Amino acid sequence: MSETIVSQDLAALCFDNRFTRHLPADPEPANYRRQVQSACFSRVRPLRVSRPQLVAYAPEVAELLDLDLRTPSSDILAEVFSGNRLLDGMDPFAMCYGGHQFGNWAGQLGDGRAINLGEVLNSRGEHWMLQLKGAGPTPYSRTADGLAVLRSSVREFLCSEAMHHLGVPTTRALTLVLTGDQVLRDMFYDGNPQHEPGAVVCRVARSFTRFGSFQLFSARSDHETLQKLVQHTIRCDFPHLGEPTPEARREWFLEVCRTTAEMVVHWMRVGFVHGVMNTDNMSILGETIDYGPYGWLENFDPDWTPNTTDASGRRYRYGQQPRVAMWNLMQLARALVPVFESVDALQQGIDLFAEHFNQTSANMSLAKLGLSPQSRESDVQLLDDLPGLLQLAEIDMTIFYRRLARLPLSPSRSSEAPDRSGGHPGSDDAVLLEALSDAFYRPEQMNNEKQDRMIYWLRRYRARVAQEQLSDSERRQRMNAVNPEFVLRNYLAQLAIDRAVQNDFGMIRELMEVLRHPYDEQPGKEEFAARRPDWARDRAGCSMLSCSS
Ligand code: AMP
Ligand code: MG
Repeated sequence: MSETIVSQDLAALCFDNRFTRHLPADPEPANYRRQVQSACFSRVRPLRVSRPQLVAYAPEVAELLDLDLRTPSSDILAEVFSGNRLLDGMDPFAMCYGGHQFGNWAGQLGDGRAINLGEVLNSRGEHWMLQLKGAGPTPYSRTADGLAVLRSSVREFLCSEAMHHLGVPTTRALTLVLTGDQVLRDMFYDGNPQHEPGAVVCRVARSFTRFGSFQLFSARSDHETLQKLVQHTIRCDFPHLGEPTPEARREWFLEVCRTTAEMVVHWMRVGFVHGVMNTDNMSILGETIDYGPYGWLENFDPDWTPNTTDASGRRYRYGQQPRVAMWNLMQLARALVPVFESVDALQQGIDLFAEHFNQTSANMSLAKLGLSPQSRESDVQLLDDLPGLLQLAEIDMTIFYRRLARLPLSPSRSSEAPDRSGGHPGSDDAVLLEALSDAFYRPEQMNNEKQDRMIYWLRRYRARVAQEQLSDSERRQRMNAVNPEFVLRNYLAQLAIDRAVQNDFGMIRELMEVLRHPYDEQPGKEEFAARRPDWARDRAGCSMLSCSS
């Protein structure tokens, strides 16, 4: 922990609960499922769990809260972060929101199994909301039980932190606690429910407000509550915009569009597929939120989705994410019309999204190749040809970029012009191809024609790198700063889960440690950067996930 950070005990945490103080509360204190009108939240207490056990925690997230988690006993931590023990100043509540699910308006959804404990005010004046996911039923639980299983909680815990260390905007995860209770789940909705260990993750974010939070009040024509939520959001979550004047509201929407675009560019950069980009799963802060049936691209495939629930329509496939983000922003814009003086400001936001996404995404694609963000005519073709190339032989995207960064391409090595008629690979070309080969899941598919295509591209790339006047090591450095060596490969998360179910939490901790430095080569940890093994190709949990969690 750095010296400037105040590090204190749990009891000293300072809560400043602006959300529950400023916004209209549901007057009904009883916890039963219902439609909640004209309120942003319902007060509710977490369900008591039987034998909470702390499995893992993220020290960096504790630092955000000025919290020293080494002092309290793990029993106390488990009591607090399972929801069994409330601290002074906590004011637990579930948020009321709605959303579009898979393109259809779903009405009221809300925190069905998430219970917010309160907002920690740290020594730097920052507010951080603590939220327990899987902490029991709320008025928003509809027909479900309010609980979460270990498997999905491990996935949420590990991925939140992995994403953060990758530089992707995300909600954070402080703790992972086993509840000691069993939870019944029909993992593949095939009539075979099983008991699974229950768990609770303590999520941390500056705000958990979603696009769907605004949509619900708008859909109900409750413009008063909508207005209050907008004012609160600007004041508390976007304080740099000043008082929520019409101008600040315009700036606010532009910022939401900009940050959402940037978030998706990052997803595309690291090969992350969210899996359920419903509008209730879109944070107003442009952060990745709600880790459910997400997945990581192994072989590059724009049509891939990890979510079996979405297998037929593939609405939320990798390559579709930018378009879905824009569609979601359009729903948010529609919801905000009643509190904006003119729709022009909202239209500007949508236009900004498209423009900002295209620009940022093009620059990111160049950066992944070690090239500077200057537009050259020839770059467009070079970039456009890459997705096709990556699909020639089921090529692992993550490994490909790291191997590409290692290729010796400096001009002194070759004077060859990018000649398509070059025919069969020369010895230099063969070396290049060989150096990329451990990214291939199907090397046998690389016939002569595909080899020629790859070589033609590599020659053009080499020529472009020469124009950039970069040494191989400079290029490698640049590329390795944006192309991770380690991501939370689907099968790795599943292996960690398999062991956790057997009460062995070592792999969760080991993965966490490796994923803390995803851009560094880590001697001894190469296995975590390797291709997905064959056994994991079609295994449940590794390549297919359902929403059941
Ligand atoms: P999701 O798509 O997982 O973000 O969830 C959509 C909605 O269902 C949200 O309102 C969740 O709070 C709710 N939900 C999901 N799982 C459960 C559960 N086990 N119990 C209660 N509500 C749930
Ligand atoms: Mg959700």
